[in-house]
Amino acid sequence: MISVSVNGYGTIGKRVADALSKHPDIKLVGISKFTPDADARIAAAKGISIFASKENHDAFVKFGVSPAGSVEEMVDASEIVIDASPDKKGIKNKEEVYMRKNKRAVFQGGEKDNIAEISFNARSNFNSAKNKNYVRVVSCNTTGLCRIIKPILENRDDLEKISVSLVRRGADPNDSKGSALNSIEWESNSHHAHDIQTVLGSIPIKTTAFKAPQTLMHVHSISIKFRGAAPSKQDIENIYSKESRVALLRNASSTSDIIEKARDLGFARNDIFLVNLHANTIISDGNELSMVITVPQESIVVPENVDAIISMVDLMDQKRSMELTEKILGLGNIKSRLEAAFA
Ligand code: NAD
Repeated sequence: MISVSVNGYGTIGKRVADALSKHPDIKLVGISKFTPDADARIAAAKGISIFASKENHDAFVKFGVSPAGSVEEMVDASEIVIDASPDKKGIKNKEEVYMRKNKRAVFQGGEKDNIAEISFNARSNFNSAKNKNYVRVVSCNTTGLCRIIKPILENRDDLEKISVSLVRRGADPNDSKGSALNSIEWESNSHHAHDIQTVLGSIPIKTTAFKAPQTLMHVHSISIKFRGAAPSKQDIENIYSKESRVALLRNASSTSDIIEKARDLGFARNDIFLVNLHANTIISDGNELSMVITVPQESIVVPENVDAIISMVDLMDQKRSMELTEKILGLGNIKSRLEAAFA
């Protein structure tokens, strides 16, 4: 059993902790909490061990959630720490805690890529995390794009350029902060292109990012130019129907529609974990292919965090690890029911 803890119990941390607790080869040591609140109560009620910051230990006891120990003790008891702290806090945790204690860690996409030895996407570069001490799971947007671009690279060697416009959600549903209510912000040559290259190498890609006042999902419009004729719509459907972490949706037309179906189908927390490729947006015209994908930002990186651990300890090969992760998360079921709803 691999002992793993989750440092940072927010949007990503709580989902990764649930996934780890279902994995047969992983022991969830516990999670860190810095404030005694309802999330701590819910985690405790699920039987998850809570490790509190030393200075807040008494406040947790008073609140009725007795910590299993301090955050330092949690890290001591772990072989690998999943760092799911807010953007740019992981680097401090690395330098002040994990390195001093000689502990391995998985970081998230809000950290700069140089925090880790490699940037990780299970479908694209599973083996590169083998025996590494520090791995960064790339952001939700980059994870979605890697799952889409990698199969194209495997099928075609005449890619000329990729352009992506990303409409990002301004805040997560649980956020009290977020983007302005009446404005859409943009950033040309956004960092996403570089981020994708940290996984897929120096592919010709440019990205423009918009931040929109909504919370449900990211939406990307992708345009790919080939030197030869672009793949047909049928070719694209054939390629992605084989991808276990891509849902091929035929009739969805909005992010609210997809989330409503996730609710109606009873997916826990509305989590989809997959990138959705919208078949009704695929256009093949001469040398150019265009299509729209949607990225469920809260859940898409959860399977990648699990696979990153398995690769780091070299427990199984890519296929077995991805299949097991998908099994514990019920991805096959989510994929087939969502695809059937939008058939
Ligand atoms: P969040 O704000 O929801 O949760 C972060 C948690 O970390 C909070 O519970 C906070 O109390 C705790 N925390 C605060 N300081 C800490 C510290 N020093 N050490 C450990 N924990 C600390 O954040 P999130 O949205 O879950 O994002 C976490 C990481 O995942 C970021 O790097 C982010 O960029 C990345 N990410 C987020 C999303 C998303 O859509 N939310 C998607 C993919 C990747």
